[in-house]
Amino acid sequence: MELSKEDLAVLISAEGEECGALFQLADQVRQRYLGEEVHLRGIVEFSNYCRNNCLFCGLRRNNWELSRYRMAPDEILESAHEAAGLGCKTIVLQSGEDEYYTAGILAELVHRIKKGLDVAVTLSVGDRPRADYETLRQAGADRYLLKQETCDPVLFGMLKPGSSLAGRIEKLRWLGELGFQVGSGNMVGLPGQTVETLAGDITLMRELKVEMAGIGPFIPNSQTPLGNCPGGTLELTLKTLAAARLAMRLVHLPATTAVRTIHPLGRERALRSGANVIMPNMTPLKYRTNYQLYPGKTGLGETPEESYATAVKAVHDAGRKVASGYGHSLTYAKS
Ligand code: SAM
Repeated sequence: MELSKEDLAVLISAEGEECGALFQLADQVRQRYLGEEVHLRGIVEFSNYCRNNCLFCGLRRNNWELSRYRMAPDEILESAHEAAGLGCKTIVLQSGEDEYYTAGILAELVHRIKKGLDVAVTLSVGDRPRADYETLRQAGADRYLLKQETCDPVLFGMLKPGSSLAGRIEKLRWLGELGFQVGSGNMVGLPGQTVETLAGDITLMRELKVEMAGIGPFIPNSQTPLGNCPGGTLELTLKTLAAARLAMRLVHLPATTAVRTIHPLGRERALRSGANVIMPNMTPLKYRTNYQLYPGKTGLGETPEESYATAVKAVHDAGRKVASGYGHSLTYAKS
């Protein structure tokens, strides 16, 4: 029987001892359907330029306090090599929405990574025309991460001026049609969000049949208009994550950097509440401080090697093992 939106809202409203039971159940479901393996996907944050002005994000165009950087394709390739050398079987290339990197430049980069390394490639470069997605898929990109952020269309329109939830959903559908394994996700604790919104986030991702759901706390950033809003709590994030695991048994759920940022053991707690992925930061040290979507982001002083080692430690501390495969979706039946 499928959990309804109302059921999910009840689960996310769990209190006291009920929370422990919810986390344990999600952990059991994860173990039964996905086993003990945790996929380590190395993320390279290659540009912090962004044409958007999202109210929540430190990369927003109007954040004049941020020094901007762009990594050259050769430098990105070098980071990908380093990540693969450390053991990452997936390279995630993420940036702000930076038109400097045309589809052609990115396609060439994806091609070079796929040719030279035995890895899967995920792109997370935002809204693009369908033709760009097509080019990137043809170049060999396996996955695309484009978060819905919130399923509330009014809140979405406020948070992301100039864009709409309907537009984002259309893009998520295109990506699926083009054969990408698709990742979406949402922030927990956004201003104006309710438990019903969070339940709706999960049912929207289930409807879209996403292969990955990045669910993490909203963290207020003083360099943005939402700087004075309260952020998402660890407990609400874990409850949403656990409910997502119960609703989507085979989906990949990362223990996010944001959850590690709001609590030193956040990542380990997430791994015990349904999560099965960690994305160690492979961005060169000199750029990291400028990819602060939110303040206090953890791992800013770590080298890629140290980020990988702390991720492995989190996996072992949670009594799990590092996966050896690419971590393609188990629901993946495209091309
Ligand atoms: N620009 C691309 C896009 O929009 O898909 C990818 C990069 S974007 C910076 C990556 C993610 O960071 C967003 O999807 C959002 O969920 C997260 N993020 C940004 N600001 C945040 C904040 N203040 N708290 C928590 N997460 C945040």
